[in-house]
Amino acid sequence: MSLKVAKFGGSSLADAGMIDRAACIVRSDPDRRYIVPSAPGKRHADDRKITDLLYLCHAAAAQKVGFEETFGLIRDRYLQIVKLLELKLELESVLDDIHRQIADGASSAFTASRGEYLNGLILADLLGFAFVDPAGMIIFDEHGRFQPEQTNVAVARALGEHPRAVIPGFYGSGPDGAIHTFSRGGSDITGAIVARATEADVYENWTDVPGLLMADPRIIDQPHPIDKITYRELRELAYMGANVLHDEAIFPVRKAGIPVNIRNTHNPDQPGSVIVPDDYPIAHTGTITGVAGRKNFTILTIEKALMNSTLGFGRRLLNVLEVHGISFEHLPSGIDTMSVVISDDQLNDKLQSVLDDIENELHPDSVEVSPEMALIATVGRGMSHTPGMAARLFNALAEASINVGMIDQGSSELNIIVGVEADVFETAVKAIYHAFVE
Ligand code: ASP
Repeated sequence: MSLKVAKFGGSSLADAGMIDRAACIVRSDPDRRYIVPSAPGKRHADDRKITDLLYLCHAAAAQKVGFEETFGLIRDRYLQIVKLLELKLELESVLDDIHRQIADGASSAFTASRGEYLNGLILADLLGFAFVDPAGMIIFDEHGRFQPEQTNVAVARALGEHPRAVIPGFYGSGPDGAIHTFSRGGSDITGAIVARATEADVYENWTDVPGLLMADPRIIDQPHPIDKITYRELRELAYMGANVLHDEAIFPVRKAGIPVNIRNTHNPDQPGSVIVPDDYPIAHTGTITGVAGRKNFTILTIEKALMNSTLGFGRRLLNVLEVHGISFEHLPSGIDTMSVVISDDQLNDKLQSVLDDIENELHPDSVEVSPEMALIATVGRGMSHTPGMAARLFNALAEASINVGMIDQGSSELNIIVGVEADVFETAVKAIYHAFVE
């Protein structure tokens, strides 16, 4: 029998109907044995997430204004869920206890974690699974830093006693028993931790989106879904702005080589997207996996005759950036030129002093500043060892009359990054996408 860990996001558990649907998904496959819920999310655009209400509640309790009203909203939502699902679960006294603890000054992390805790109790009752509290098995140190190895041992041991369990997402505890949470969206991390510790065959991440898409649907009308993507490709696309999973959630499962299957609760029959280990065999060559990009970069191009034979030129250039506390994104270079691509939030108002220092330290022949640039990454393992892929991309840009200000091909042949002016960003993404996808 294989083992699946299923994590359900807040938007998939927002009300009784959706929780019931999630339970049906779990029951439809007996391999789904460990379930990690988020707290209920928004039911409609103007609604509030339970976690947001809990943070508000914590602030209201500290200031002694509005606490009862805010807690009342949370109480009503959970009691309504229990009622509509016709559960016998006695949640009133649990809610009373949480109310008392928050009123008595419980920490913000404890308060926020109750959203997942309560949802976990409900789902465990509905499914007839054991409820296993992550406090005491998802371990943080006294400084609030997550301890992955200790956690792995503790989770494996605790869940070894339960063939089926619900484990609330988002939190764990420190040596003194105090609750700590991951950063927002952190139930993804809990799901990955549980998958690693139980040596799951797959980590299913159920959301309200149709898996990963080959491009941003705000730019491309109905982009194709990605059926398989490696961890490395995902990292390249995520860095460029494609956003589905919490970043830190990748690491526990990646390390263990466990595939992540992103599924859509509204469309459970669709296979979704699978994130596979990096050595997964390539199914199709001559294709791309996705295109993603970001705006707000500045490119500095430094030219100096005989740069290639000037010892230490690159080091001194990077030293100028380091002295200003600036990290760079890319460093494409020619024989006598070197460009540095810097994100604008790094550069802030330091541009002039950086230019002054480059002048004084390196005495370049010229420095060209290209502000308001966008970077676009075309990513795909299927591009490697395939002649003509780069030509197709650059032809498409040329046909759309787009000037390419910078080119950087990752040494892994996994991606080609181009820099274009920000105002042609969308046009460039469309041109590249349609060059590879009909
Ligand atoms: N409920 C938490 C949040 O809203 C954690 C999660 O949903 O993953 O950030």
